[in-house]
Amino acid sequence: MGTNPSSRPKEECGVCGIFGHKDSAKLTYFGLYALQHRGQESAGITVSDGSHVQEHKDMGLVSEVFKENDFEKLQGHLAIGHVRYSTTGASNLVNAQPFTANHRGETFAVAHNGNLVNIRKLRDTLEESGSIFQSTMDSEAVVHLLAKECCTKNLKDAVHEVACRIRGAYSLLIMTRTHMVAMRDPQGFRPLCLGKLPNGGYVVASETCALDLIEAEYMRDVEPGEALIISKAGIDSFFPQGRQKSSFCIFEQVYFARPDSDIFGLNVYNYRKRTGEILARERTIDADFVMPFPDSGNYAAIGYSQASGIPLEFGVIRNHYVGRTFIQPSQSMRDFSVRVKLNPVRSFLEGKRVIIIEDSIIRGTTGRSRVKSLRRAGVKEIHMLISCPPTCNPCYYGIDFPDRRQLIAAQKSIDEIRDYLDLDSLYYLSLEGLVEASGMPKETFCLACFNGEYPVEPDLTFHKNTLGCGCG
Ligand code: SF4
Repeated sequence: MGTNPSSRPKEECGVCGIFGHKDSAKLTYFGLYALQHRGQESAGITVSDGSHVQEHKDMGLVSEVFKENDFEKLQGHLAIGHVRYSTTGASNLVNAQPFTANHRGETFAVAHNGNLVNIRKLRDTLEESGSIFQSTMDSEAVVHLLAKECCTKNLKDAVHEVACRIRGAYSLLIMTRTHMVAMRDPQGFRPLCLGKLPNGGYVVASETCALDLIEAEYMRDVEPGEALIISKAGIDSFFPQGRQKSSFCIFEQVYFARPDSDIFGLNVYNYRKRTGEILARERTIDADFVMPFPDSGNYAAIGYSQASGIPLEFGVIRNHYVGRTFIQPSQSMRDFSVRVKLNPVRSFLEGKRVIIIEDSIIRGTTGRSRVKSLRRAGVKEIHMLISCPPTCNPCYYGIDFPDRRQLIAAQKSIDEIRDYLDLDSLYYLSLEGLVEASGMPKETFCLACFNGEYPVEPDLTFHKNTLGCGCG
């Protein structure tokens, strides 16, 4: 698992692929730009002109990894790209994606969002039959499997076989020199959508915000369990394991996806606003105003304000120009990482009773620093509402939650968390409210980090976290 020193959960990965455009690498670059929120550790693009494959990848943000002249060599009509935050495998260049390998005159490249839960077993089996792994990524196993299957089968049959061997969460883009394959796991944990380019080519991306940026028209989601093979002949769609019940990751709606995206058939902005409306129905508080810590609780705060009639204010100002700082503050400058980004408006907040809306509390350290900054600014009462239930369980499907020992809701009662954060009151949205905001049946979603019911059994000899919800 990747290391996550911050108290906020980390985005997982984003994928974008283009088929049938002469500037496929550039369009992929813009798609990745729109998906930057899904991973900031590394970025990469692999491109093919039908016979030659080129790639460029490095550690850093999309804007840091690619320079104008990189695109001189990235020529071709077919490209896949990836932005990464490591949930499996260490954070270094060898683990940056797309992962590309040559085998018997063919090239295979893969860009993966998700986590394979049977990776230990897969890797052992592949290594026993002679595969030599270059990285610690679970995604590399997909390349090895596909290359082996392609020795004896055509691409469609090989993809079918690979889909039947891998388990867990995957929204995958795979390319050969001539074909692009898009695959989504049978539960559809992570989003993946298909769009059409103005020139008739195709785009597949993690979120619709990537389509908007390159003026592609949204066609539909790649369905859970569906595989698409895109070539000059068009799109071939099939379901290697048949259609199964979905388990969409509800945390994508709560936290990860961009609010201007539509995922799982729902607009993220509207979903978050609705959670705020339901919070207002579930919890009435007498306060002077409601405010988010930008941007985490923005949309739920709008919903809460409109439903409760309590005014919405921005009592904390965000510095939008924070880059990476390599200069560490002295020990005496505690809570530096919070203060460098967010600063309370002291003269406005002094003596007020405020409701803070947050989208999650993971370890609790960020929330604690935020509350401390408000106390320093003279706020009289601080009530915190969370737009999801307590997160008591780790995720095995591609989200970098810490293990249960570090999840504050798995270790403390709600009253203890309230005291730890130094709040006047604390309330979490109910599980029913979380689902109600979607307008879809509960069974549609994975809710495991809240209720401990894992839709696909994880390999616990590989994932050392302990199962079960201790929040009671
Ligand atoms: S466990 Fe939580 S974060 Fe992971 S897929 Fe399920 S809902 Fe999403």
